[in-house]
Amino acid sequence: MCAKPISKIVIVGGGTAGWMTAAPLIQHLEKHAQIVLIESAEIGTIGVGEATLPTIRAYNHWLGINSEDFIKKTQATFKLGIEFKDWGHIGNRFFHGFGDFGPKIENISPHMHWLRMQQADSNMPSYEHWSVPTVMARNMRFVPPAGGPPSANNSYTFGYQFDAGLYAAYLRDYAMQRGVTRIEATVAEVELRPEDGFIAAVKLSDGRRIDGDLFIDCSGFRGLLIEGAMKAGYEDWSAQLPCNSALAVPCAKVPKLTPFTTSTAKSAGWLWRIPLQHRTGNGHVYCNSFTTDDEAARVLLAGLDGRALDEPRQLRFTTGRRRKSWIKNCVAIGLSSGFVEPLESTSIGLIEIMVLFLVENFPDCDFRPELANEFNRRISIRYESIRDFIIMHYKLNNRSDSEFWRYCANMAIPDTLRHQIELFRETGRVAIYDRESFSEESHVAMLLGLGVRPKTYDPFIDKLSLNQLHGHFSQIGEMIAGAVKAMPDHTDYIARYAASAPVPGLAV
Ligand SMILES: Cc1cc2nc3c(=O)[nH]c(=O)nc-3n(C[C@H](O)[C@H](O)[C@H](O)COP(=O)(O)OP(=O)(O)OC[C@H]3O[C@@H](n4cnc5c(N)ncnc54)[C@H](O)[C@@H]3O)c2cc1C
Repeated sequence: MCAKPISKIVIVGGGTAGWMTAAPLIQHLEKHAQIVLIESAEIGTIGVGEATLPTIRAYNHWLGINSEDFIKKTQATFKLGIEFKDWGHIGNRFFHGFGDFGPKIENISPHMHWLRMQQADSNMPSYEHWSVPTVMARNMRFVPPAGGPPSANNSYTFGYQFDAGLYAAYLRDYAMQRGVTRIEATVAEVELRPEDGFIAAVKLSDGRRIDGDLFIDCSGFRGLLIEGAMKAGYEDWSAQLPCNSALAVPCAKVPKLTPFTTSTAKSAGWLWRIPLQHRTGNGHVYCNSFTTDDEAARVLLAGLDGRALDEPRQLRFTTGRRRKSWIKNCVAIGLSSGFVEPLESTSIGLIEIMVLFLVENFPDCDFRPELANEFNRRISIRYESIRDFIIMHYKLNNRSDSEFWRYCANMAIPDTLRHQIELFRETGRVAIYDRESFSEESHVAMLLGLGVRPKTYDPFIDKLSLNQLHGHFSQIGEMIAGAVKAMPDHTDYIARYAASAPVPGLAV
């Protein structure tokens, strides 16, 4: 028999995580539970987090959000992947696209066949020629994938790049229209039940006391409930993910909107560039043990391709995650649960998955520990697979131009990642630890892009002659080039489909 259902949920924090949690919960629970969200204008939000993974579309779909309306109201552009510049070595340029490298051949991944051809002919064009999103990105094209049987017109997917503040506001309107109560106040104290250490209520600085059954900590890095009250503990990953600082600055947009995010490696970190309809978001992620904040600001401002619209804003963080994200009646979602670092835009994706896991493991007032254990188990796998994927970007470098890159090349890495790299280097195969996280294609894009060349390939592929393979690859390459040529320009597509209203003062 079920215990008393949860009748009141208290969410602390109104950043992207808070509203991304409130919106599906109110939609899912309808009127069965009251949801109160407390956010502090005094503290504010982190104000970054503008590039996403394709999974954001499933999240928006879950809420029944109309994509045209969402794009217009959040100044969004489309994202086909990430362009990496100077990663691995200076002068290197490659693309991690949201798509595959063509269909399997004889049931074997196409990169294996490409490796064989490349070993036979070093003039073989880059594997990127067979990645539809990469060819689209290089030609600045965008159109959503078509339906129907597999073809060059649907072997890719996409995410969005949007204004984080506008997205949180969009979800706030959605959630409040459906009954979420918003309280603007600062939580000053957390009251625990003496008998079992569960959270009984939060006390606000104006004296109010807000009680509840389930408390969701979306308070950002500070982890007000999960760390402050529940003492979850933090697993620090900064030895392998050493960046601990960021400077963020918006600049005036350029006329052509790139359908991708750009990441450019610098001597103590990397720069992000995220094009939105009304402005371009820029940032420098770096480790302050290897450079100074002033030098980092200089590098950031020197890399802008438009007029800076503000002073650079400083952020500090420690990469890692809470040892547990769900303890008793407290669940941490968003930065309160951890932060891997923004390189592959995974944080918002983690929020989506945490809300989904919470709904799938929704408790009643008994709070059976098995539910928290299952949630923590799944979140832990996800965090670790993202951690390994991101560490790989740093570890696999031949840059000897700075102490930072020499440190990264020599640092110890998790056994799981060491196995991944050795497996690929020796055999061209990819180890997938978490099927729902980065795919084989993503690993191949990064490993080849960062310069790992497998020594061998799948022995079964020798069934086809090199001539047959050449014919196959040429045919697919021509199909991709033809399909992409017929696609609209990304900027034109946005103008026609979902142009946002211009924002005064943010012209080109
Ligand atoms: C440099 C950088 C770049 C990033 N880029 C990306 C990216 O491109 N893509 C991506 O997916 N993610 C990115 N992220 C992560 C992304 O910004 C976050 O995942 C996302 O914004 C969610 O943040 P949050 O809501 O957890 O925290 P916050 O935005 O910090 O919100 C915390 C909320 O809690 C409230 N609060 C705190 N204390 C109290 C209190 N005592 N009382 C009441 N309210 C309180 C605050 O007022 C605020 O409303 C980036 C992060 C950093 C640091």
